[in-house]
Amino acid sequence: MIKSIVAGNWKMHKTPIEGKSFINSVVESLSEVENTNIVFCPPFTGLSNLNIKPPFHLGAQNCYYKDSGAFTGEISLDMLIECGVKYIIVGHSERRHIFNEGNELIRKKIEKVIYAGISPIFCIGETLEDRNNEKAYDVIEEQLESGLKGIKSINNIVIAYEPVWAIGTGLTASIEKIKDMHSYIRKILNKLYNNINIDNIPIIYGGSVNSKNADELISIKSVNGFLIGGASLDVVKFIDIVNIVNDN
Ligand code: PEP
Repeated sequence: MIKSIVAGNWKMHKTPIEGKSFINSVVESLSEVENTNIVFCPPFTGLSNLNIKPPFHLGAQNCYYKDSGAFTGEISLDMLIECGVKYIIVGHSERRHIFNEGNELIRKKIEKVIYAGISPIFCIGETLEDRNNEKAYDVIEEQLESGLKGIKSINNIVIAYEPVWAIGTGLTASIEKIKDMHSYIRKILNKLYNNINIDNIPIIYGGSVNSKNADELISIKSVNGFLIGGASLDVVKFIDIVNIVNDN
């Protein structure tokens, strides 16, 4: 059985001191949680000197695929691993659309992260234009195929289906749309990896998840948890969502 995941992507919010105090409050309030992995993804400056234990984990919002060198502004996997990072978000829509990250760069990052034994949270999602032009499924297939090209093992991957039009907009995808896309994602993964049991790969949903809609969204059988932006910044809302997922 897949253990649920609730990952909070803080984006460019919270100083190291603010982040530490947020994490301490969440850890204190959720000492009973057993069925859910909780992942905090602060900015890089908020990753060091935190001593957290499962089910709580540290995640990074990005990384570069080279080990070291003249790559101003980038961060390596070793630097993140030394901070205790266990998950890395790769291919987030803001990286794709604001920083122009393409499928090939994303593929190199995923490969690097997987082979280091860290779990990539591989984000895929269609834009509103793709959806309106009935291209959503083609886009997802292309993102999966090119992002995973040549990668032999994906046992530790997490897939995050995040329709771009639902991120930070207050719009959530309908239950039908999520169900259909999650089963399509599983179908593509099955086609690409017929040697592994795809049923063990978590597929989480992201896009305006909050403490009001979390119950309905987590009741979708194929949703194994959430990647949360806005609502992950608020200690009460974040704790509520984790409790909802954990009790489901
Ligand atoms: C995200 O940034 O991955 C996200 C899902 O944001 P929000 O929850 O704010 O829509």
